[in-house]
Amino acid sequence: AVRLRGLVRRHGDVRALDGVDLDVAAGTFTAVMGPSGSGKSTLLRCAAGLERPDAGSVEVAGTALEGLSERRLTLLRRDRIGFVFQSFNLLPTLTAAQNVALPLRLAGRRPARGEVRAALARVGLAGRERHRPAELSGGQCQRVAVARALIAGPAVLFGDEPTGALDSTTGAEVMDMLRALVDEEGRTLVVVTHDPLAAARADRVVFLVDGRTADEIAAPTADGVAARLAELRPASGVA
Ligand code: ATP
Ligand code: MG
Repeated sequence: AVRLRGLVRRHGDVRALDGVDLDVAAGTFTAVMGPSGSGKSTLLRCAAGLERPDAGSVEVAGTALEGLSERRLTLLRRDRIGFVFQSFNLLPTLTAAQNVALPLRLAGRRPARGEVRAALARVGLAGRERHRPAELSGGQCQRVAVARALIAGPAVLFGDEPTGALDSTTGAEVMDMLRALVDEEGRTLVVVTHDPLAAARADRVVFLVDGRTADEIAAPTADGVAARLAELRPASGVA
């Protein structure tokens, strides 16, 4: 579902990505971890077509991104790729239902009857359709953001620290919900997280250090992830 080859992304002298190869099979859950500044967000943004790499190739949802026009890329992002952020990025003046329906509206589609309600029920928010973000908890807001990211039926869902703004209990609930999307719906998930407990829900954890993949753990446990993370911390790093 995702295939990255030789990804390089520079910001001035900084090599945010320094030759990353990564394959993510459809229907699997991959967590990406690594020290602050190791390139995790850049990796996700390049893989999701939000940012163009300086070198290398990205194939996502069966499409090679190189050479796609901005317009084609926008359509691909809208229809085939979901993305959730640490800060939810909901529109505060819209209700939960209106936020979820937004991608369909932007695509010129009127949601089918019950479609939005079902999407909210799927993330555990039945009955909250008319609440605005300010009337929802952080965990509920992130659930709305996930429902919105999934409404167009994307092949792949990316999350950049989707539980980073939540307390650990709420974060665990959101991670369980994401895990269920893989197990019950066969979605493909790639999620950046700093939390070993969250990463332990994934099928595998990929570690980035200085813009390169440094290691990988299959069938991760929280303790195993935390230990590996401590070892990988660069000597100079503060994170
Ligand atoms: P964190 O865990 O703190 O979110 P990260 O692993 O997501 O870190 P990135 O945001 O991908 O790290 O950044 C990787 C490197 O690229 C960092 O050194 C960062 O300073 C640099 N960088 C990222 N975006 C930009 C930008 N727009 N302009 C300049 N430098 C950037
Ligand atoms: Mg980041």
